[in-house]
Amino acid sequence: MICNRCKNQAVYTRKYSGEKLCSECFSNSILRKTAKTISKYKMIQNNETVAVAVSGGKDSLALLKIINEMAATHNFRIIAITIDEGIPGYRNEALEIVEKFCSELNVEHKTYSYKELFDLTLDNALELRENEKTSSCSICGTLRRRAIDYAAKDIGADVIATGHNLDDTLQTFVINMLSGDANKIGWMDPENSGNSLRKIKPFCEIYESEIVFYAFTNSIPFQSEPCPHMNEGIRTEIREFLNSLEGKHSGIKNNLYQSVVKVSHIVKASNYKQKILCEKCGNECTGKICSVCSVVLKLKENQT
Ligand code: SF4
Ligand code: ZN
Repeated sequence: MICNRCKNQAVYTRKYSGEKLCSECFSNSILRKTAKTISKYKMIQNNETVAVAVSGGKDSLALLKIINEMAATHNFRIIAITIDEGIPGYRNEALEIVEKFCSELNVEHKTYSYKELFDLTLDNALELRENEKTSSCSICGTLRRRAIDYAAKDIGADVIATGHNLDDTLQTFVINMLSGDANKIGWMDPENSGNSLRKIKPFCEIYESEIVFYAFTNSIPFQSEPCPHMNEGIRTEIREFLNSLEGKHSGIKNNLYQSVVKVSHIVKASNYKQKILCEKCGNECTGKICSVCSVVLKLKENQT
C-alpha cells in the first residue's frame, strides 16, 4: 500500500474518501484540516490568549500539540487548563499525564477543581442529587462548563478551545434533538465570533477515529482508564448507533455534520431576536435561570 501523496508506505486508509496515507502525510492532513476549520470560522484572532481545556484524553492532548505548533508560527498565546472534578482514582492519572505533556511542550498549565470553585467534589454532588435519573455526566458537564468559564476569565483568555471532535458534535446534536430542547441546537453553530468569550472546537470537522490514529502515530500518551461514570448516559448508545451507520455507509457522519451546521445556524438566527439571559449569571439560556445556576443552586440547597 503506497501513500497517495508522497509514495512512502501507507499506514492509514481514509474510508470515506479512499485516500491512503503514510504516517507523516496523515498527521499533516490533520494539522491542515484543523488550521482550515480555525480560519473558516475565524476561531482565533491576532494577539488573543487561548485557553486550551486539557482533560488528559486523546482529543485534548492532540489538540494541545497541534495548537501549540500553530502558536509557534502565529500571533496568539496558549495556556492549558485542566478541571479536576474530584473523581477518585480517575482524575489523578490524567493530571500526571497532562503535567508531563505540558512541560515537554513548554506550555503553561493551571488546574482548577470543583472543590475550590463550588465547595464540593463531583462525588459530593452526586450524593446530593435529588433525582437519581439525572445522569452523573449531565451534572458533571454542567459544573465543568461553569468551571471552564471561570478558569478562562481567571487567566484572561479571549477564547476557550476544547478537543470535541466531529463524533462528539453529532452525538450532542442527537441528544439535543431527543431532549426536545431545540433551542440548544442554536448554540452548536461553530460560527460564534460575535461572543465576548468564544468557545471553539478546532476538531469539530474531524472523525474521532482519525484523532485516535493521530494520537497513536504521534505517540501521545493519553489516559487509558475511562471515567467510572462514562456509560450512565445516553451518549454511549448514540455513539454506537452512529458508528454502526458509518460502518455500513462511509461518509454518513460527514453528511450529518453538514446538516448540523446548517440547522444550528438557522436555529441560532431564530433565537437571536429573543435572546434569553440567565437572571443569576447573565449567560445565554432557554429559561429564567440557566442550567448551570439551577444545578449549582439545587445542590447547595441540599447541602445546607
Ligand atoms: Fe464527568 Fe461524565 Fe466525563 Fe466522567 S464521563 S468526567 S462524569 S462528564
Ligand atoms: Zn505520504
